[in-house]
Amino acid sequence: MLLRHTPKEISERKALMINPAKTCQPIGAMYAALGIHGCLPHSHGSQGCCAYHRSTLTRHYKEPISAATSSFTEGASVFGGQANLLQAIENIFTVYEPDVIAVHTTCLSETIGDDIKQIRDKAEKQNLVPPGKHVIYCNTPSYVGSHVTGFSNMVKGMTELAQSTGKKSGKVNVIPGWVEPADMEEIKRLSALVGVDITLFPDTSGVLNGPMSGEFKMFPEGGVTIKELKAAGDAAGTLALGEWCSADAARNLDTKCKVPCKVLDMPFGLAATDRFVDALRTIAGVSVPEEVTRERGQLVDLISDMHQYLYHKKVALYGDPDQLIAMTEFLVSLDMLPVHIVTGTPGGKFERIIKKITAGLPCEVNVKASSDMFLLHQWIKNEPVDLIMGNTYGKYIARDEDIPFVRWGFPILDRVGHQYFPTVAYKGGLRLLEKVLNALLDRKDRDDPEQRFELVL
Ligand code: SF4
Repeated sequence: MLLRHTPKEISERKALMINPAKTCQPIGAMYAALGIHGCLPHSHGSQGCCAYHRSTLTRHYKEPISAATSSFTEGASVFGGQANLLQAIENIFTVYEPDVIAVHTTCLSETIGDDIKQIRDKAEKQNLVPPGKHVIYCNTPSYVGSHVTGFSNMVKGMTELAQSTGKKSGKVNVIPGWVEPADMEEIKRLSALVGVDITLFPDTSGVLNGPMSGEFKMFPEGGVTIKELKAAGDAAGTLALGEWCSADAARNLDTKCKVPCKVLDMPFGLAATDRFVDALRTIAGVSVPEEVTRERGQLVDLISDMHQYLYHKKVALYGDPDQLIAMTEFLVSLDMLPVHIVTGTPGGKFERIIKKITAGLPCEVNVKASSDMFLLHQWIKNEPVDLIMGNTYGKYIARDEDIPFVRWGFPILDRVGHQYFPTVAYKGGLRLLEKVLNALLDRKDRDDPEQRFELVL
């Protein structure tokens, strides 16, 4: 009974969050920055913030996360951190030799009001940025938004590197949103199968799921290169996967370099993947290849085979808006009932979209943005569910209420697999479905009376 104090009665709360379903903005900015090859993320604030952001990413990816910090002490906290950042830029380029430093702010430097663009420009004027190297930045005040906002802000910061030569390259930019390195690999594989030459950014595949080589590399092989980011301004178009994570960057690229963009849902589940494949197919001007149709058919087959175990099972979901929208649509398409849905990220639009997706369900659906795990737990106490899906933090509710639990989302601190096995696209849909079915069938095996304990499905 880890959360034994959560009461069933729900009372109105305006100023208090308990176990928010989100984490802080710079974590998202740091994760996005790691998707650029040769990039060192830099946290403009105190060492404590940077240590927390690095450790959260390390615990999720089981990889060491390198990042620098402006190391604010009392002086910088009062008078501003310009001197610290200028010194840091000089030191980092001298000692670690990255291609790019990606600076994000913290609550502290935002409250002081440090102007990062002005400091970056000053560093360039003082020749602290070597020729051919770059400093990009974004503002990530963590008292607004969430880690999703920070991710989006850093990806938008990347688009400032894009240049338009006036000659289209024929490539397509794909902004994948906050998905796992394995998902990024899968998006690249699927795009290649359809026959579309894409630039994926950010791209953490090969950075946070690389092999053990026995040799330390400050900057792993993976990641989108600076050259590719610059050329993104000449692309034929941009597909932005997820309104919250990717749309701002795509629109900025459109404004800056006249690269038209289309915002799609993240390709989790059947219908969202269909829309992604259709967008790729349309851009390439080709028919969907047989191999892709085959992968889709396998997912449809598994759904049909196991539908009776999924039918009208109630699910509680929590996590980030882009993921939740696609997952809710997937669960509804499986005839499951996502009845409680919470995100810590702000967005009235999120609630409206979820209401629309779940409109035809034969039950009430609770949905709330800017919310917390405490409310989710209360909803579950009032209307129990068959399954909980979300990041590691849901295990406390799952244990207290004795409900099957599928880990999916960020962060997953106590399991592995998310780095290596995708959950996007048709292949990823198979894995998602396997995880959901295993959780439900394990419970069935545990609870069934002996006469119904069955080997055959
Ligand atoms: S002070 Fe702000 S930026 Fe730093 S760890 Fe806390 S919420 Fe995140």
